[in-house]
Amino acid sequence: MKILVSNDDGYFAPGITLLAEALRQLGEVTVVAPERDRSGASNSLTLDRPLTVRRAANGYFSVNGTPTDCVHIAVTGLLDFTPDVVVSGVNLGANMGDDTIYSGTVAAAVEGYLLGIPSIAVSLASKAGEHFESAIGIALQMVERLRRQPFGEAVLLNVNVPDIAVPQLRGVEVTRLGKRHKAEPVVKLKTPRGETAYWIGPAGGAADAGPGTDFHAVESGKVSVTPLRMDLTHGNQLARAREWLAA
Ligand code: MN
Repeated sequence: MKILVSNDDGYFAPGITLLAEALRQLGEVTVVAPERDRSGASNSLTLDRPLTVRRAANGYFSVNGTPTDCVHIAVTGLLDFTPDVVVSGVNLGANMGDDTIYSGTVAAAVEGYLLGIPSIAVSLASKAGEHFESAIGIALQMVERLRRQPFGEAVLLNVNVPDIAVPQLRGVEVTRLGKRHKAEPVVKLKTPRGETAYWIGPAGGAADAGPGTDFHAVESGKVSVTPLRMDLTHGNQLARAREWLAA
């Protein structure tokens, strides 16, 4: 099995190293990841300049671009094979609800999915990063299952793992995305030259977080697995939009 690993925290991040080394027991692992932390890069592609790929001493490829650039380059020209699966992560921090819109971790998996490859984004749902082994174990299980039992259709899975020890995990739940409250206000700063600068504030807390959501599963000590799709069409509003335009 050929496994492409990427992330948005950068090719040096502990989460990607642990993930890539663990996945070697399931197949041939190639790492192509951003040269620096690109968390929040979403699905951006770099179109205004050529990108450079460097090979680190440990064999990992680093790219001076976004997570999406990394997977795009890897699959469309850098590698001389098509990966059987793309695994993105393990991200330091949750990617639940609205986070998935902004996440570079999810975006790397999205790019694999859009290129026709089964893809999985894996996030450790805390910034403490105390139990990466739990997320790594789950990632291994998911990829092993894909190898043994293909999903049968195009698939993009968003996985969030509580930051607790393996024996404390309370199973796996298939969930839908929850929703966050509006983001916290931007933080205003003064630069050394007296200009006002703005620093994007933290995401809002969980709002729609009831049973069945990713937030609820993780809060209950369960691994959350959400199948995602990329069609943004609001199907239920097609009729209303036609009616509104005709009025
Ligand atoms: Mn990140």
